[in-house]
Amino acid sequence: MTEKTFHFAKERKKVYELAYNLRWSFDCPTQQFFAKLSPRIWDITNHNPIAVLNEISEDELRSRLMSKTMRDELELCHKSLRDYLRAVRRPIAAFKQFDRHPVAYFSAEIGIHESLPIYSGGLGILSGDHTKSASDIGLNFVGVTLFYRQGYFIQRINSEGWQLEDYNQHDHHSLPVVPVEDEGGKLVKVQVQIGRSLVSVAAYKAVVGRSVLYLLETNLPENEEHYRDLTARVYGGDSTTRISQEIILGIGGAKLLRALEYEPAVYHMNEGHSAFLTLELLHEQLLLGRSLDRAVEEVKKRCVFTTHTPVAAGHDRFSQDLINFSLSEFVSSLGVTLDGFMKFGRVHPDDKAETFCMTVLALKMSRGANAVSELNGKVSRQMWTGLFPGKKAEQVPIGHITNGIHSLSWLAMESRAVYEKVAGPDWMSKLEHSAEWNALVTRLPEDEIWALRYALRRRLVEFIRERMKRQQIRYGNSSAQVEKLFNPDALTIGFSRRFATYKRAPLVFTDLDRAAQLLGDKKRPVQIVFSGKAHPRDDAGKAFIQLIINLSRDSRFAGKIVFVEDYDMGLARQLVAGCDVWLNNPKRPLEASGTSGQKIVMNGGINCSIMDGWWREAYNGKNGFAIGEDKELHVTPEEQDKIDSQNLYEILERKLIPLFYDRDASGLPLKWIKMIKESIRTIAPVYNTTRMVKDYVHKYYMQK
Ligand SMILES: *Cc1c(COP(=O)(O)O)cnc(C)c1O
Repeated sequence: MTEKTFHFAKERKKVYELAYNLRWSFDCPTQQFFAKLSPRIWDITNHNPIAVLNEISEDELRSRLMSKTMRDELELCHKSLRDYLRAVRRPIAAFKQFDRHPVAYFSAEIGIHESLPIYSGGLGILSGDHTKSASDIGLNFVGVTLFYRQGYFIQRINSEGWQLEDYNQHDHHSLPVVPVEDEGGKLVKVQVQIGRSLVSVAAYKAVVGRSVLYLLETNLPENEEHYRDLTARVYGGDSTTRISQEIILGIGGAKLLRALEYEPAVYHMNEGHSAFLTLELLHEQLLLGRSLDRAVEEVKKRCVFTTHTPVAAGHDRFSQDLINFSLSEFVSSLGVTLDGFMKFGRVHPDDKAETFCMTVLALKMSRGANAVSELNGKVSRQMWTGLFPGKKAEQVPIGHITNGIHSLSWLAMESRAVYEKVAGPDWMSKLEHSAEWNALVTRLPEDEIWALRYALRRRLVEFIRERMKRQQIRYGNSSAQVEKLFNPDALTIGFSRRFATYKRAPLVFTDLDRAAQLLGDKKRPVQIVFSGKAHPRDDAGKAFIQLIINLSRDSRFAGKIVFVEDYDMGLARQLVAGCDVWLNNPKRPLEASGTSGQKIVMNGGINCSIMDGWWREAYNGKNGFAIGEDKELHVTPEEQDKIDSQNLYEILERKLIPLFYDRDASGLPLKWIKMIKESIRTIAPVYNTTRMVKDYVHKYYMQK
């Protein structure tokens, strides 16, 4: 090694450039590079490159980079980032109109990677995947959310099986974010009025490929003590905290973009949490001297809105008192009375009993609105018919764009290798051309698919044993039993998502004897892995967790059911790779779309789901399993649970398990593999965020 060929400063710069662009969150080689710098720190910091760089000394970094292999790897990763940033593989002419005026995307949570824990569940992951795909396809995109230093929460389960919540305080120095500063190096701040106080809001910037995210926070010395914690937790606190967070997100976010001289072509509100932004834009229009009606028209031209929530009670609502308490100054700055202000958030403007609904505000102030699946669209149109007097439900102007996932973020390295082997390094582009994709899938060799399934399942089983060992040790139990947990050859079913009660995690245990028979079959072993967080105030959801933990300790189920603590994106990646079957049994039609089942498809997993959300659109009779029929039951909730669980047992007993264990002479389940191929062929090209973001551009973002 000579000094001539090794310039530390230059190489070091490349390392930092890689670490500060979250494109690494969907680039396995870059993740491996950082893992190699310090496998232990990588592991204990939830896979965080910045934390790795903070922990190792400069000398250590220098000595690692002495290795030619490490430098070659670094160069490959860095070149791939440069190429990614430079080239839009297939520039789309329509996107040009956004080059100077970006799409501004507002969401209360954005999930990019487990090490940046500013999300709670599906809504956040969807926002993160949207951000990544916007970057992939070259759409000028800027996202706005809050910087939750304590994240959502860390889930621990006590010896009674009850969920406890822990909070860590994250330091921005150990995250891939930088404070937003002006040219003089001073923090850029904007002020929002909350109640009688002027609250300062600062921002951190995160870069995801070509997309930019701004994370807002109020933890600043000039703010009164109780305002500093406003942005600490995702959906934390009571309705006063909630409205304050929404003021910061909507009004603070719009002001920040203005302070940074962005002129967005369109503001996209992902859910109603950010809808106050429309009133900040309204304020701006009024200052230009426009009449209220004209100002509303101008705001509407620039706003679009996505609604997810299929039950009336699930939408954010604030009382007149709370609005008055939090926003009275803002209300007078608009030149309207309090009642005049309330009208923006009421279905029936003159009904004084009606509270202020953020979804109503968003719908009134947007030129376009959509739900997130076909059925969710239908439900939403029915729910909001009252807002459009004289229109029938079918005529209510709420369309739908079905959610997708960012394919690369959820694809296991091992799976990626299989596609690459069959179709070369450019294999992903074939997802966008159905004939090419069909041909690729046809060429996937059956035995390789099965070898992949075994490898991924084996990896998951080892991962589960390791995690359970750590859980046991923390409880002071012996970890001796852990080695017998799970079987790498057994049909592995995954159920992992937020433990909201409508998702009915324990449905498969409705009839315990029948469940015990299913799971106790020695010839055709079946095992189920559960994971998921209940909201801190949702005791019914926590009771579901407890029920499953208790069953996992019951001798009839021991070793065949596990509950893995602390579901997050990292755990989700393990599960969507290793599970053979992804079970989803929500109460129809409450699953707005769902996305987790889409993540398993390219890893060779099979969906088994109630006909709700995205699945009833994707299911074709051959690419997975449908539980029950695609129709409303018109029965009591108890009856619905009973009917759905009966249907679930029938599918498992008569179709799913027999098909998985139907092997040919060489041990291959050919019919099962055929179903995997059909699933990859039909689902992967449609239920991804490349397709989804393009739909948003063409149907909502572009001015007609
Ligand atoms: C994908 C994902 C979700 C969404 O799951 P659904 O089953 O669609 O509700 C939630 N949490 C995490 C961590 C995810 O990765």
